[in-house]
Amino acid sequence: MKALIVEDQQRLGRFLQQGMTEHAYTVSVVGSCREARAALCETSYDVIVLDLGLPDGDGLDLLREWRRSGFNEPVLILSARDTVQDRIKGLDIGADDYLPKPFSLEELLARVRSLLRRHSTAKDTLLEHRGIRLDLLGHTAQFNGKPVDLTSREFALLEIFMQNVGRILPRSHISEKIWESHYDIDTNLLDVYMSRLRAKLDTSSGQPLFKTVRGVGYQLL
Ligand code: CA
Repeated sequence: MKALIVEDQQRLGRFLQQGMTEHAYTVSVVGSCREARAALCETSYDVIVLDLGLPDGDGLDLLREWRRSGFNEPVLILSARDTVQDRIKGLDIGADDYLPKPFSLEELLARVRSLLRRHSTAKDTLLEHRGIRLDLLGHTAQFNGKPVDLTSREFALLEIFMQNVGRILPRSHISEKIWESHYDIDTNLLDVYMSRLRAKLDTSSGQPLFKTVRGVGYQLL
């Protein structure tokens, strides 16, 4: 699941990013209205956590723009403005939920899960292919009916493959999604993760699940 965090306090942004990444979300953080608009033009997100007091404008105006332009995904407002009037205004403009600061990370995660649950049909959040069963909301994986214990990075990696069955995924594409940067592309980090994933989804007796495409990337068969 991809989350966009719009938050200008860098420490809080990093804290949220870390917390959500640990729960297998792929997270981008931006600190202004301008960056948020650009991020949303560039790619799609499953959920947005939106601060209101931003250096170059008001988060409510962003939200209004998004809803008018048909952006339909869940938005959770995270704001220090916490009067009843503020909440009503945010919800009226099109927020799905409103969490006042200070907040607990556990509560934020629970509310995000609840938004995603309400918003998604079971079909989008349960991915199945060749005995692999990935529950994106519960963050659980099964292989041939048995639970598989995956780290959050491994889970995010497998999710990308499950969303793109049969496609050859370039290394750069995968690294960008998992690590949000090109920083690690030259290292063998991706290969390390791939071999862990292969070990956990053991198909030694049958046809392999993953194909290494030399010089290009990987493919889930
Ligand atoms: Ca702020």
